[in-house]
Amino acid sequence: MTYELPKAYDFKATEERIYAMWEKNGYFQPHNDPNQPNFDPAVKPFAITIPPPNVTGELHLGHAMFVSVEDLMIRYHRMKGYSTLWIPGTDHAGIATQLMVERQLAKEGSSREAIGREAFLERTWQWKAEKGGQITRQIRRLGASCDWTRERFTLDEGLSKAVREAFVTLYEKGLVYRGPRLINWSPGLKTAVSDLEVEYSEEPGTLYYFKYMLADGSGDYIPVATTRPETILGDTAVAVHPEDERYQKFIGKQVIVPMLGREIPVIADDYVTRDFGTGALKITPGHDPNDYEIGQRHNLPVLSMLDKEARVTEIGGAYAGLERFEARRKLWADMKTAGLVIKEEPYTLNVPRSQRGGEIIEPMISEQWFVKIDPLAEKALAAVKNGDTKIVPDYFEKVYYNWMENITDWCISRQLWWGHRIPVWYCADCGKQTCTREDPSACAHCGSANISQDADVLDTWFSSGLWPFSTLGWPDKTPDFNYFYPTSYMETGYDILFFWVARMMMSGLEFTGQAPFHTIYLHGLIRDEHGQKMSKTKGNVIDPLIVMDELGTDALRFTLLVGSTPGKDTNLSLKKVEANRNFANKLWNAARLVITLLEKAPAEAGQPDEKPTLADAFLLTRLNSLLHDSERLFQTFQYGQAGQNIYDFFWNDFADWYLEIAKLQIATGGARAHQTAALLVRVFDSLLRLLHPFTPFVTEEIYGHLKAAVSQHPAHFAPQDGRWAEALIIARWPEAADRPSDETSLREFAIFQEAVRAIRNLRAEKNVKPGQKLAAILVEGEERRGLYEAEKRNLAALAGLDETRLRIVQTLEEKPAGHIALVAGPLTIYLPLAEMSDPAEEHARLTKDLAEAESQIARLEKLLASDFSAKAPAALVQKEREKLAAYQQSAAKLREQLT
Ligand SMILES: [Zn+2]
Repeated sequence: MTYELPKAYDFKATEERIYAMWEKNGYFQPHNDPNQPNFDPAVKPFAITIPPPNVTGELHLGHAMFVSVEDLMIRYHRMKGYSTLWIPGTDHAGIATQLMVERQLAKEGSSREAIGREAFLERTWQWKAEKGGQITRQIRRLGASCDWTRERFTLDEGLSKAVREAFVTLYEKGLVYRGPRLINWSPGLKTAVSDLEVEYSEEPGTLYYFKYMLADGSGDYIPVATTRPETILGDTAVAVHPEDERYQKFIGKQVIVPMLGREIPVIADDYVTRDFGTGALKITPGHDPNDYEIGQRHNLPVLSMLDKEARVTEIGGAYAGLERFEARRKLWADMKTAGLVIKEEPYTLNVPRSQRGGEIIEPMISEQWFVKIDPLAEKALAAVKNGDTKIVPDYFEKVYYNWMENITDWCISRQLWWGHRIPVWYCADCGKQTCTREDPSACAHCGSANISQDADVLDTWFSSGLWPFSTLGWPDKTPDFNYFYPTSYMETGYDILFFWVARMMMSGLEFTGQAPFHTIYLHGLIRDEHGQKMSKTKGNVIDPLIVMDELGTDALRFTLLVGSTPGKDTNLSLKKVEANRNFANKLWNAARLVITLLEKAPAEAGQPDEKPTLADAFLLTRLNSLLHDSERLFQTFQYGQAGQNIYDFFWNDFADWYLEIAKLQIATGGARAHQTAALLVRVFDSLLRLLHPFTPFVTEEIYGHLKAAVSQHPAHFAPQDGRWAEALIIARWPEAADRPSDETSLREFAIFQEAVRAIRNLRAEKNVKPGQKLAAILVEGEERRGLYEAEKRNLAALAGLDETRLRIVQTLEEKPAGHIALVAGPLTIYLPLAEMSDPAEEHARLTKDLAEAESQIARLEKLLASDFSAKAPAALVQKEREKLAAYQQSAAKLREQLT
């Protein structure tokens, strides 16, 4: 009975079916589950928590990247026997989600204010129920082997409990406080945004010069320049440098705020740069971070001249109620009329804009909640310095240190409704605050029931900072938390090292006493094929969903994984994805051939056993060194290189060479055929396992077919570890055998390949018809006496020689007449093609070959004379030496031919 594989690989019909099979069989769940009675605490866990995408999100290449890398990490460790857990989930994404629902309401002519907090939240949950699952469905399509039974959402009950616990703990330790602080205010979103959510852009602007008139009626003035004239309304001082001779006489005097008539002091502060603008600085502590610092030093009042909608407050007198830019125009016009304006100059501004809305951020004083960050940052800094957590690639450690050393208190309150509401209640009677784990019904200080909860919610990063342990059940000591925490890797893009990774480090150490993961792996960003950032405006965005539809998930994953180096940006082109679609097809075709071949092999090994052929020995040696290399590369996070090596092995060694030879060896029949089939199955199975973390779907599908074909065959060929797994996803990772590499087989097979290539090239050059078999004389040399007798058949078949007219000799006294000589390392091959060639042409060819050999000799001699010999691994140096020796042999033979 023959086992038939479909002609072509149909990823569309495969991917969904395979994914459902994995999930249904529970392969995504840890095989050693701490919640089950047969749990064995000695089995090593391996856990990753997914960077939770925004619940509003739609799959983009950034998601595809982290899912591919993390799924590879998880699949590799699962195959290595770890009890693996990959926790999926989504982030409630405060601002983004709220905006989405507000937009819906606006379309209906309503607003969140109109329907009220409770109805608005109900509406948002309803939105989440209907639309919130989209991103997780898309993540499944990528083949993510997450444990969906443990899926979390940052606003679900368990995680909300964790947030409450974390906030109350900080409150009790005195690590959160409420206070007036200068914050980045987004007037459109009506919320504070963190420093990290502000982007600065260079834009053309104006520097406005004007007069600060002295209050003493002398008519003297101090010239001052500003880029934001409307903030004059909030000025509380003018500052000059203490050593500035121009302004010495003014220090301590009073000046008059233009159009308002308020008197403010002239102060001296060495923060002022004497040669910028006029050398005198207006101070607006309520609306500028540097001015705020100076104001603190000099005890200046802090005035808020803008309200939360960026309109002028009553502080602005006649300008009250004006929008900020309108106020700027009107005030400046009035100052002009009053003769207070000196001049205007074009000036390049560094404008702070909101990362979300794009509008100009207004620094403002506001009552906000803050985390005292220094004690938390200290621990997070120490954990990386002392090696509890390492960052890959390690040059990001410096970036991390620098940031942690310069961190400022973290503003955690947001003026939104969608999020974790701040668990603090204010008492209307005694004015004190109550902060508890359970909602209070009365003031903890005076017992009054007249209390109301803070209206604000917590920054989204506050809850996602708890993600690695809140998802495992913390603050409860659940079996999952006890077994899987601290987690193993944190894998994410380097662009959120600070936003998120640093916060998880600080929170993890503060609340659990342990760093939340031992390794932080940072991947780079994906750019287009020309290295440009992808953006909608440039129109160069690649949609992963479309790519998966057209070329298959495996092709996309393989491209992302093999193209990436830790921490470095990757250029992605559709051509590469297409090439990798072809790779999946080539793998499929190889599987068809392997299955066809093994069915031709006899059931019995026969007697006596055949010695392995040169090709057999070569293939096994190459596989073993591939297994060694893969292990080393996986352990050192060089997944891209590992994938490339496996790809090369499959394409060149296995498909192009060994499969061709295997056809011949199996056609021989008997023991040789049996052994060849056994070897094919073993090597191909190992390849599927190695490739599985990169291209899970096609490998799983082929594995199923291979297993079925083998089970139908009476010989029951076995994989390397002796056992067929239920599914490839849970098969064991192939381990390298601990034996020295068989260098002879590598060297001899390389010579064999060279001989085949040389003969093929010559045939092509002389236009020998593909079917025409040539006679040949092979001079193999004394030292490999008899080796080519065994390879006669393979050589003849691959090079298009007539086996019966292929003479193999150790030496030849004289060059045979009418023959052209070819040199492959130590071998000389004579082909009876002289009548087809002219001697001058022949001479030119040999001369060209000699020149090539000599240039290789020169290159290798130079390389081996450099410090490469001392620094490179010994095995590599040895390889280069062998190459040199082979070229020297070729050169000698060619010189012989040329004399
Ligand atoms: Zn009270």
